[in-house]
Amino acid sequence: MTDTIAALASGRPPAALAVIRLSGPAAFAAVQALAGRIPPPRRLSLCQLHAGDSLLDEALVAVFPGPTSASGEDLAEFHLHGGPAVVSGVLTALTALPGIRLAEPGEYTRRAFANGRMDLAQVEGLADLVSAETASQRDQALALAGGALGRLADEWRERCLMLLAEAEAGLDFAEDEADVAERLDEAARHQLLAMADELAGLIADSTRAARIREGLSIAVTGPPNVGKSSLVNVLSMRDAAIVTPIAGTTRDAIEVPLDLGGIAAVLIDTAGLRDTTDPIEAEGIARARRRAAAADLVISVASADAPHWPTPPDNGPPQLQLLNKCDLAQPDLPPDALAVSATTGTGMTAVRDWLSTWAHTTTRPGEPALLAHARHRAAFADAEAALRDAAQAPEPVLRAESLRGAAHAFGRIAGRIGVDDVLDRIFSRFCIGK
Ligand code: GDP
Repeated sequence: MTDTIAALASGRPPAALAVIRLSGPAAFAAVQALAGRIPPPRRLSLCQLHAGDSLLDEALVAVFPGPTSASGEDLAEFHLHGGPAVVSGVLTALTALPGIRLAEPGEYTRRAFANGRMDLAQVEGLADLVSAETASQRDQALALAGGALGRLADEWRERCLMLLAEAEAGLDFAEDEADVAERLDEAARHQLLAMADELAGLIADSTRAARIREGLSIAVTGPPNVGKSSLVNVLSMRDAAIVTPIAGTTRDAIEVPLDLGGIAAVLIDTAGLRDTTDPIEAEGIARARRRAAAADLVISVASADAPHWPTPPDNGPPQLQLLNKCDLAQPDLPPDALAVSATTGTGMTAVRDWLSTWAHTTTRPGEPALLAHARHRAAFADAEAALRDAAQAPEPVLRAESLRGAAHAFGRIAGRIGVDDVLDRIFSRFCIGK
C-alpha cells in the first residue's frame, strides 16, 4: 500500500500561519485521530487538534477526497498557527501514526502526475510559478501550469496520428489504384512539409520564451575606470559591485538581477577590458569577453574625459553606448549613445527606459510563448525532423514509421511516454511540501 505523506507546505516558522498537508490512504484517519472527527469535504472547519491529552493547536482543517483532490489521493490540510512548536508537535503526532511519513521534495506533485491530475508540462509550469520573480515569468508559468502547452502538443499529436492512419490505409492500395495512391501521396507530402515549417516557426520563436523564463543577460563592458561598476550599482540600486579608483579591481564577472518593467534580466559587470600581465586579471578579462559575446545586450561604456568606444564585433549582440562621467565634460555624442553620470544620476532614467523598452521588444511578453524549456524545444525539434523524414519517405511503411516518431515526440511533452529519465530532474526542482 502507498505511504501517506505529511509535510509543512508553507514557509519556515515562525509565521502567522503554517499549512501542513497530508496525502494518501491514511490521511483521513489521521484527521480523525488528531481532530476527533472528519469535517465535511472541501471546506475549512475549526477543530481542536490533540495528541493524547495535550492540545496541540486550534486550527482550520480541510479534507479533499480522492481522486478529485490535487494529488489524486485523499488529501488533508491543517491551517495552523505558525509557531515552530505547533508545527513540530503536529508533524510529530502525524508521523507517529501508522503508514504516515514525512514527504520528499516534490512528492505531492509527483503523485498528482502519477494519478493523471497534471501532465508533465504542467508540473514544469508549477515549478516555474513557485520560482517566478517577475510579472512576465509569472504569466508564462501560469500558462504552462494551466496546461496550454500540453493541449498544443496533444493537438499536434492528433494531427500526426490522423496522417499515420492515412499512411497505413495507403499501404492497402491495390495495383490498379496506383494513380490514386500517387495523388494522395503528393498531397500528404505537401501537408507534412507545411506542418514541419509551422513547427520550425514555433521553435524559432522559442528563444523569446526562454529569455522570459531565464532572464535577459546584459553585459556591461568598457575599459577600466570608466564607471562600469558605479553604473551597475546605480541601475540595480544596490552596492553589489566594488567601486574603486584603482584600475583593474573587478576581476570576475559580477551578476546583479534586474526587473525591467516586469521582465527579468541580469546585469553582468565585467572586468575592465585591457592588456594585462596579471594572470588572475587576464582570466577575468577572458571571462568578461566570453560573457559579453553570449549576452543579449552589451552596454559599452566610455568616459566623457576620453570619449571612445571600441568597434563592436560583427554578429555580436546589440549594443547600447553610454558616455559616463558627463558631469566632468560634455563632448559630442554619437547618434545612438546616451550621456549619463553614475555619480550625479543624470541620464539614468533615460537608460532605465531604454532598457525596459528593449526588454519588451525583445521578449514581447504579451504574446504567448510556450516552449520555455529546453526539454520542450528538443521534443518539438525531434517532431519537426520526423515530419521532414516522413515527407521524404520513399514508401508508406517508412512514412508511417516516421509519423509514429513524430507522435511519440509530442507525447513526451505531456509525459505520456519516454520521460522516465527526466522525471527525477524535474521533480527535484520542488521543495518539500509541494
Ligand atoms: P570601472 O572600473 O569601470 O568599474 O569603474 P568604477 O565604477 O570602479 O569607477 C571608477 C572611478 O570613477 C571611481 O572613482 C568612481 O567614483 C568614478 N566615477 C564613476 N562614475 C562617475 C561619474 O559619473 N562621474 C565622476 N565624476 N566619477 C565617476
